[in-house]
Amino acid sequence: LSFCTSLPKVELHAHLNGSLRDSTIRELALQKNLDPSLTKVLEKGDRTLSEVFQVFGVIHQVTTDHATLTRITQEVIEDFAADNVQYLELRTTPKDRPEHGMTKRSYTEAVIRGLRLAEQGCTTVVRLLLSIDRREDAAAAMATVQLAAELSPCVVGIDLSGNPTVGTWETWEPALQHARKLGLRLTIHAAEVYNPSETKQILEFRPDRLGHMCCLDDNLEKQFYDSLIPVELCLSSNIITESVGSFPDHHFLPFFQAGHPVVLCTDDSGVFETSLSKEYAIAAQAFGLSQKDLWQLSYQAIQHTFLSREDQQKLRESWNEHYATHS
Ligand code: 5GP
Repeated sequence: LSFCTSLPKVELHAHLNGSLRDSTIRELALQKNLDPSLTKVLEKGDRTLSEVFQVFGVIHQVTTDHATLTRITQEVIEDFAADNVQYLELRTTPKDRPEHGMTKRSYTEAVIRGLRLAEQGCTTVVRLLLSIDRREDAAAAMATVQLAAELSPCVVGIDLSGNPTVGTWETWEPALQHARKLGLRLTIHAAEVYNPSETKQILEFRPDRLGHMCCLDDNLEKQFYDSLIPVELCLSSNIITESVGSFPDHHFLPFFQAGHPVVLCTDDSGVFETSLSKEYAIAAQAFGLSQKDLWQLSYQAIQHTFLSREDQQKLRESWNEHYATHS
């Protein structure tokens, strides 16, 4: 683990509300007088995918005001920085909550305030992705895309996430097409559950990156390999939610061996009690990766970021400096 901790890292798949410290969730639940029956689900260890979405339900009840959003954003960035994450693409779903005086815009601005505060205390470069939740309709998806374009360049792209058993691709595709026209980059959660027709549509849409890709049949696997679209892989998340049976069985290995571009990520470091260093260490152990393999995984992740070529080059220089002083 110490090698993985010292390695400079790129995190491309981290959900803000999933990356909260447990202690903060408990503190906020107490502050907001949340019914203890609701927080019971937090005590449960191995959670199924549907229980994970119940956990998000609880977290979302304690992150309803702007000051809290600013605080959690700052904390989450500090935690990634402490884990030697040098570049973080943090994603979150802008929420309209009229009962709390919150709009998608005010939500996102509160997150950006947290980002600015964190930037004062660490060197980690942070960009935002705005997520469309699969529960949202076409108009809400379009509103998120519009907002993302207005808040560029702090916001670099759009993510599609949320309960994979909810909604249909046709609902969000027009907003995603529009995002592409506006120059936003796109990453899509795909094949977390077996849904061949949707996965095929997503691959044909050709997002800039994919997330997960757990459940593929032979045809989809071929289509995926041919696409060469980089994929964000979250080992602990897939095991805990039972999308994959065990670490050695994880699809990281065939993807990696096939030379398909992969990036190790945390998904929800709070909910799954992990860190990016831990994910690298798990990969090393489960797949017999050498320190050189881990270094290359981290270095190659730079080219899959949604940064400009010049900013990617700056990151490479800082990786090279680290290499020169540590080898
Ligand atoms: P937020 O967007 O509220 O900051 O972060 C939590 C949200 O991210 C969840 O409500 C859900 O929409 C999305 N999310 C977090 N983890 C996962 C995951 O493993 N799979 C999917 N599909 N969505 C997730």
